Amino acid sequence: KQGLMAGKRGLVMGLANDKSIAWGIARAVAAEGAELAFSYQGEALKKRVEPLAQQLGSSLVLPCDVSDESSIDALFQSLGQEWGSLDFVVHAIGFSDKEQLRGRYAETTRDNFLMTMDISVYSFTAVARRAAAMMPEGGSLLTLTYYGAERVMPHYNVMGVAKAALEASVRYLAEDLGKDNIRVNAISAGPIKTLAASGIGDFRYIMKWNELNSPLRRNVTQEDVGNSALYLLSRLGGGVTGETHHVDAGYHVVGMKAVDAPDI
Ligand code: NAD
Repeated sequence: KQGLMAGKRGLVMGLANDKSIAWGIARAVAAEGAELAFSYQGEALKKRVEPLAQQLGSSLVLPCDVSDESSIDALFQSLGQEWGSLDFVVHAIGFSDKEQLRGRYAETTRDNFLMTMDISVYSFTAVARRAAAMMPEGGSLLTLTYYGAERVMPHYNVMGVAKAALEASVRYLAEDLGKDNIRVNAISAGPIKTLAASGIGDFRYIMKWNELNSPLRRNVTQEDVGNSALYLLSRLGGGVTGETHHVDAGYHVVGMKAVDAPDI
């Protein structure tokens, strides 16, 4: 195989269907020669993920529920047996109770707060530790975040608090793992219509607002995120770690509604 990712082996976590951000990233790195393994959550997703993996020439499709330590251990044990070493990991996982992704953040329950932090934040640290143990020559770890970590966005609520913690953990992991030549970064993606996103209140309005008010006057695509992920996962991003890289058509630099944006 030829390309920027030739000879590189990577684990992609968080593929649910062909709308998933994980799918955009998997396609971009596979097109550059990466060999991929996929993890999926729960038997129901297995039959969706397997044919997608096959399209990219991968038959290594393994279960992993990141809320369960033994499930993460089992995943890395299988990967160790199949591959021995690993070059990169894509963590495209987040979860919160849909009922609390609308209305007031102030109503967040303790149970949902802890579950959201567990699945959306701690899981990246849990995965990073095990992945690093399989990266004797270094590697690259990537997670997905959103602008709701930095500014208040409608309905994002506890997920915004979780993403802020995720971005902080990217910085701490970058320091811990940098000595082993392992880079750790996040992509802060603009809104994309996926299964997870459809749980967020008024998501269509949020997408429209971003389209009308971002400097590029459009929403980003899975391909946009995939291409930027390729940079961070390949040698092109060799000097970059601890970074939250915005792939959001520039929305994060904007201070107010665009003068030419119509009312919606
Ligand atoms: P998606 O629904 O396609 O992917 C979310 C994935 O998380 C699913 O594959 C699901 O199975 C997995 N997941 C949830 N709980 C899990 C668990 N306990 N164990 C293992 N896997 C679990 O949606 P997506 O939008 O592609 O989400 C991927 C990442 O991108 C998430 O972190 C999300 O917050 C982030 N993100 C999304 C957007 C957007 O607008 N879609 C914007 C910025 C960031």
